[in-house]
Amino acid sequence: MDAGLKRELEAKVYAGERLTREDGIALYDSDDLAWLGRLAHHKRTELNGDRVMFNVNRHLNLTNVCSASCAYCSFQRKPGEKDAYTMRIDEAVRKAKEMEDEQLTELHIVNGLHPTLPWRYYPKVLRELKAALPNVKLKCFTATEVQWFEKISGLSADEILDELMDAGLESLTGGGAEIFDWEVRQHIVDHACHWEDWSRIHRLAHSKGMKTPSTMLYGHIEEPRHRVDHVLRLRELQDETGGFAVFIPLRYQHDFVDSADGKIRNRIQAQTTMASPAESLKTFAVSRLLFDNIPHLKNFWVMHGLSVAQLSLNFGVDDLDGSVVEYKITHDADSYGTPNTMHRDDLLHLIWDAGFQPVERDTRYNVVREYDKAPSLAERRAEPQQVWA
Ligand code: SF4
Repeated sequence: MDAGLKRELEAKVYAGERLTREDGIALYDSDDLAWLGRLAHHKRTELNGDRVMFNVNRHLNLTNVCSASCAYCSFQRKPGEKDAYTMRIDEAVRKAKEMEDEQLTELHIVNGLHPTLPWRYYPKVLRELKAALPNVKLKCFTATEVQWFEKISGLSADEILDELMDAGLESLTGGGAEIFDWEVRQHIVDHACHWEDWSRIHRLAHSKGMKTPSTMLYGHIEEPRHRVDHVLRLRELQDETGGFAVFIPLRYQHDFVDSADGKIRNRIQAQTTMASPAESLKTFAVSRLLFDNIPHLKNFWVMHGLSVAQLSLNFGVDDLDGSVVEYKITHDADSYGTPNTMHRDDLLHLIWDAGFQPVERDTRYNVVREYDKAPSLAERRAEPQQVWA
């Protein structure tokens, strides 16, 4: 990038001007990672100071049986496959109860599009989970699943969301977004929920008072212009509804040979690499700079490892998810040395060690508890530091 354009973009960021599609593509074109980090950190500090939010949550996948076969997905199984599973309602409740320690505040539930489970199963499981864990917020189902429920129930998304909310639903999850541009989407997504339905369902959720997350799956066959397009669609929808609490860039993962059947399920593996840490930091930074209307940017640390998670806090990120015990979808694909579990204390030290102030939040980004500020650099130098993998 030439020096003139660099100065122009920098001036726009410091003046708080909205960046354009061309600006976003130019930022991705820059190889000056430190400069991108400085701009994104300025924006992040304006919005969130030196705070880093986190929550105490657990992930639960009720079934991995799915009617679709998305090209990148290593989670889905077909009925009858050796490790296909579907939880009975009492099993789901028992598993959730086992995860209740540490003042859990949120259960995050996403699932395959099961071909024969009846619609009634889903509100029923929510009611039983809510009865068993009344203080835990239920963040459940992607827009893709809601559209699937429309298909299997004959009900509208409006009726479905009303029933799920009555059963205890606090928020949808942000999944199913992947990359909205059809040029890419047609090659990776195998279900029927695309931008029109994804945005329709989140718009509806926002109109009912929900705060929902938004996501983007990056680092596969898309190009930076597709990432910019994706973010700008979400930015426009956010101008309209104001209902997105956070944006989460999700790093596309390669699959490993499944020891159960010797298969690699990811069908685009041979033609893809995975985003490098530098590319991930750039994606966080450019996303932070383009989104002037979504308050938070999350790093789902399971996909990056802990050192990159700490670094990303200087590239626009202000939210680390979460204190996960078991995360099947990524851990079916990875094993990059990321631990399965981070407890509250681990997260606190991770954030302090990076020089930021931890703030525990709930599903709607209300503050649950503010913690001490990070110790100063001099104080931290005086003690041996933990090394994060
Ligand atoms: S990404 Fe979701 S919808 Fe697609 S195959 Fe996997 S589980 Fe099914």
